[in-house]
Amino acid sequence: MAFELPALPYAYEALEPYVDAQTMHLHHDKHHQAYTDNFNAALDKAPELKSKSAEDILRDLASVPDAIRGAVRNNGGGYVNHAMFWTIMAPNAGGPPTGAIADAISNTFGNFTQFQEKFNDAGVKQFGSGWAWLALGPGGLQILSTPNQDSPLSQGLHPIMANDVWEHAYYLKYQNRRAEYLKAWWNVVNWNEINKRYAAVKK
Ligand code: MN
Repeated sequence: MAFELPALPYAYEALEPYVDAQTMHLHHDKHHQAYTDNFNAALDKAPELKSKSAEDILRDLASVPDAIRGAVRNNGGGYVNHAMFWTIMAPNAGGPPTGAIADAISNTFGNFTQFQEKFNDAGVKQFGSGWAWLALGPGGLQILSTPNQDSPLSQGLHPIMANDVWEHAYYLKYQNRRAEYLKAWWNVVNWNEINKRYAAVKK
């Protein structure tokens, strides 16, 4: 069994004008496909790992053989991170958070505006490629950034939502203006899905 590229849950142009269709085509069909293929190729060298979920593999990188650990970290991370990323965006979405995550964000960060500022700041300040995250850990909700395709799963955290700050996520439309992309991205955030993820990891 090999991991498969998940289909986008909406049309490539559905997130316009905030995320353009050409970026979505390249990001999903080329970048995510490449992470998927390279993750599978790495696991071919350690077939014993194929019975685990991709998330469980990332939770326990120490048990991945040395020879493929880097490839699994990068490409398994890319596989899992993007699979979540497509689902936590949607057309006709955005706006302030709803449900349990709205209360948790207010309780943890003061209010939604302060949360957005801190999240965007994590994205802007991530040097080079990486991700800005909201994750649940032992101390509650936290904002963090990771380089490359590193997953918070490998730090014992539960990812709730994230924004991709690799240049491939925004450069065609926003060029060097990462901060502008981070700000516009809130218009496509899918709070329904984020609430589902929050409910699942709180158990
Ligand atoms: Mn990406």
